[in-house]
Amino acid sequence: MTLKQVLNRATGILVANNIEEAGLECELLLRHALRLSRVQLYLDLDHELRAKEEADFWQLIKRRLNGEPTVYIIGHREFYGLDFYVEPSVFIPRPESELLVEQALKLAQSRPVSSIAEIGTGCGAIAISLALSLPQVKIYAADISASALKVAQFNCQKHGVEDRVCLLQGDMFDPLPEPVDLIIANLPYVKEGELSQISSARFEPLLALGGGGDGLAKIRQLCQQVGDRLCPEGCLLLEIGQGQARAVTILLSRLFPSARIEVVPDLSGIDRVVSLTLTPAS
Ligand code: GLN
Repeated sequence: MTLKQVLNRATGILVANNIEEAGLECELLLRHALRLSRVQLYLDLDHELRAKEEADFWQLIKRRLNGEPTVYIIGHREFYGLDFYVEPSVFIPRPESELLVEQALKLAQSRPVSSIAEIGTGCGAIAISLALSLPQVKIYAADISASALKVAQFNCQKHGVEDRVCLLQGDMFDPLPEPVDLIIANLPYVKEGELSQISSARFEPLLALGGGGDGLAKIRQLCQQVGDRLCPEGCLLLEIGQGQARAVTILLSRLFPSARIEVVPDLSGIDRVVSLTLTPAS
């Protein structure tokens, strides 16, 4: 079979198995099996696969059909236009989290920000994207998982920011050495009962996704501790799940009655980021 035929056939199989981005995933898997760039693949669609190449590719499709996310099979993922190494010890960066980066950059344009801490950095995608866009800013990236931090360290080196992103191991704010101007976090917020609805969850670290019974266990903990960790007039940007905006804004307004609180929707119109800005009175 040719590359084109094999792609069409595999795409049909993934579609029949309700895999949403079937075409894109097949392309990524085929390129991975044959070590081809996107351009090489498309310039050579009539190339006949050798038996070994075909067998390697169908092996990857088999893993995908067994539920393994394509990102873990190929070992990398694009986020904010950058390529990150990803393995099963870390949560797969989601496109909706790019909103956190956008909001942080917007904030850094409107006021002086000299330090940022990301809590729960995973593969480091958010902290590294910020480091590349904000070369003057000191960035801390913390995670409770030592194996996640190894992945983040690899990604820092890959993007040449290992001197500017300070990786810290520990729970929440425990390892943070000083208050910062901006805290950013995509904590686990999926309700325990809804984990099974996320197709990749079976392969991802539960620690990065599960937020307890109502999904807010970790978010609540962070909100309660964040006051001491922000500089005066500092800001928190927090990713939340669908339907959580009300509970989180109520919680924050109780804890910080005179702070400014805003909710920002993602590209699908779902409330995705809650921002808290301390005022001199808070
Ligand atoms: N947005 C992710 C999802 O629903 C969950 C991310 C998280 O728990 N922080 O797949």
